Amino acid sequence: MNTNTINYKKAFYEQSELWGKYLDSSEYKKYKEIAAGISEDVESILDVGCGRGGLINLLFSLNKYDRIIGFDWSWEALRYVQAVKIQGEITNLPFKDKSFDLVICMEVLEHLEDENLERTILEIERISKKYIIITVPNNEDLHYGMTLCPICRQRFHLSLHIQNFNEEKLSKLFNNFRSNEIKKIGPIIPKIPPWQFFYILYNFYDKFFPRSRVSICPQCGYQFKNVFLIRRSIGQRLFFFTKLLARILFPFWQDYRWLFAIYKILTKI
Ligand SMILES: [Zn+2]
Repeated sequence: MNTNTINYKKAFYEQSELWGKYLDSSEYKKYKEIAAGISEDVESILDVGCGRGGLINLLFSLNKYDRIIGFDWSWEALRYVQAVKIQGEITNLPFKDKSFDLVICMEVLEHLEDENLERTILEIERISKKYIIITVPNNEDLHYGMTLCPICRQRFHLSLHIQNFNEEKLSKLFNNFRSNEIKKIGPIIPKIPPWQFFYILYNFYDKFFPRSRVSICPQCGYQFKNVFLIRRSIGQRLFFFTKLLARILFPFWQDYRWLFAIYKILTKI
């Protein structure tokens, strides 16, 4: 990463607003579902990109694992982690080969540029002894997360998502691990049809009423939290009503929020 990239990413991931919000119920449900699906022969767990530790804290509280570690790039996020925590780069994990029975990586891969994605996948594979769990947004249409910087006109994703995933892509992530089980999980959310009309409408909204408070422009570093509060709340309402309208007009255009895959190491014959 060059210095500029590091600066805006640091600014984004070290925001207290990004991690301080309380856990929404669908996320908590997801963590419980994942915890319940962990195999009985797992004794050590690493959560790569654990964020503020929603899952790792739950697993830690179960008191049944020998070794449980949360790993993240953001110091701010790690403040919330109750288990052992390590700060670092996910493209270069400071662990020996096959260090953990299970390596978990939730809603991280969609944030990585191609080169970092490839390296991270190899790293996860390298340090896992038996299992890998991956979750990502389900078939995300990245257009709808895009916004326009009001200062430099750069287009970028509000949550810095770069990749999208479907079941097929997930099934081919690893060389030495296979998944027999890729599931759709989470709440069913309305999808907006991938039509130019909606893209233009969203761009128009964002120009005057940005919907997010945590976004930071990767090109000029403009911070959306500087936008006057009322304009932001109008923006959030506009997006909410458009989604509601889409739900009424296209009631079957909806899908689960996340994809969830458990991979098992391939045993050599
Ligand atoms: Zn900008």
